[in-house]
Amino acid sequence: MSSNIRIQRVCQYCHQLFTARTTVTRYCSHNCNSKDYKRQQKNIKIRASNVESREIILKEFNNAKAIGVFRIYFNMKELSVITNVSERTLFRLIKREGFPKIKIGRRLLFNKEKVINFINLKYGIFE
Ligand SMILES: [Zn+2]
Repeated sequence: MSSNIRIQRVCQYCHQLFTARTTVTRYCSHNCNSKDYKRQQKNIKIRASNVESREIILKEFNNAKAIGVFRIYFNMKELSVITNVSERTLFRLIKREGFPKIKIGRRLLFNKEKVINFINLKYGIFE
């Protein structure tokens, strides 16, 4: 909507003063208008990408949490899954001298890192 009014406005893109014919004109030129549009589109894409990245990281974190990556102690069944050594073999192994185990009440727990180190030392299968 064009009129006979002439007002001074500041371009939303280049921040230069310009003479506008309406009170809602936001850009000094078509060039600034399209550059700002491109900038906005770019920012929308960046934001969408950041949201996607955060979702992936959160999903991976929750998966890791679900499979117990952040846990230190595991029971026999879990240890078997982690080490890919059968429970039967583990039962045999834990009788060996120096096998790292912790007994809390009736529960027998294992420190994942220590068990892996022990097996690695004895068998060298975790290279
Ligand atoms: Zn401008």
